[in-house]
Amino acid sequence: MRTFPLSSTARTREVVRHELRRRRVAVVGRLELPGSLVRITLGGEGLDGFTSLGPEDHVKLFFDGPDGVVGRDYTPSEFRALGASSGPELDIDFVVHGTDGPATAWASAAVEGDELEFGGPRGSRLAPTGFRNALLIADPAGLPALRRWVRAFAGDPITHVVLFGGAEAGFLDETELATVLLQVVEDGQDLLLTVESQDIDDDTFVWAAGEAAALVPVRRHLKALGLPKENRSLHGYWKRGVAGLDHHAPLDPTDPD
Ligand SMILES: Cc1cc2nc3c(=O)[nH]c(=O)nc-3n(C[C@H](O)[C@H](O)[C@H](O)COP(=O)(O)OP(=O)(O)OC[C@H]3O[C@@H](n4cnc5c(N)ncnc54)[C@H](O)[C@@H]3O)c2cc1C
Repeated sequence: MRTFPLSSTARTREVVRHELRRRRVAVVGRLELPGSLVRITLGGEGLDGFTSLGPEDHVKLFFDGPDGVVGRDYTPSEFRALGASSGPELDIDFVVHGTDGPATAWASAAVEGDELEFGGPRGSRLAPTGFRNALLIADPAGLPALRRWVRAFAGDPITHVVLFGGAEAGFLDETELATVLLQVVEDGQDLLLTVESQDIDDDTFVWAAGEAAALVPVRRHLKALGLPKENRSLHGYWKRGVAGLDHHAPLDPTDPD
């Protein structure tokens, strides 16, 4: 396995803080997407002043669970200051994953007029600049954020996309697909082999989001390569068998750095 020294030219990513408000919005649209996703469009005055600048931004949606209110993290897929409903609109793309999780249950049944509360994003970490290559990896839950990355980069740096866990390329439109080199793999083993076959050096930025256990071998591989921390941003967005995963917990519990 090839290794390389830590980069001497550390890259930083600008962070923009936002006022944290709890917002009340209503469903103004619903669209079934390729794969197991549904796009719920939220609207109303509750979106006044909403801002989302970073591809990894997330909002916390609040739902009634059996033991009270629970929060679940979602990506602001797209925000329009003036949408078809003649007001501000926010798209959230939900994986409908067939469990009784409060978020998936709400999204499965959501119809126009249903109300929802959310908070965030607390801040936006902007896309980095100065990399020659980017490798973006996502399963269906990571697709909305991956699309934001693809739009933010627009082909510069050269962008490789690897989809796994049933994520469908049809989530991206033709313009977005034209700016990336795409591979769709079957399972975690294929994902690791595909990442191992990539030409990754310290001019490469790697972002990944999806099922936590599937990403652990990828993280170990990147660490073993010696890829500097500022070159990688890997996130467990959910974990099989765990409800309401805390995404601030280490992706690899055996190596919590
Ligand atoms: C920063 C961030 C951004 C995210 N953005 C999005 C997004 O834009 N769209 C999106 O769909 N998800 C996104 N997620 C993932 C989402 O928060 C989780 O999938 C969440 O657990 C769903 O909540 P739930 O109430 O449906 O299920 P939970 O109550 O959390 O879990 C119930 C059961 O469902 C399983 N489960 C949870 N999620 C999935 C899944 N995706 N596939 C299969 N089984 C699952 C759990 O393992 C558990 O067994 C994001 C997560 C983070 C941390």
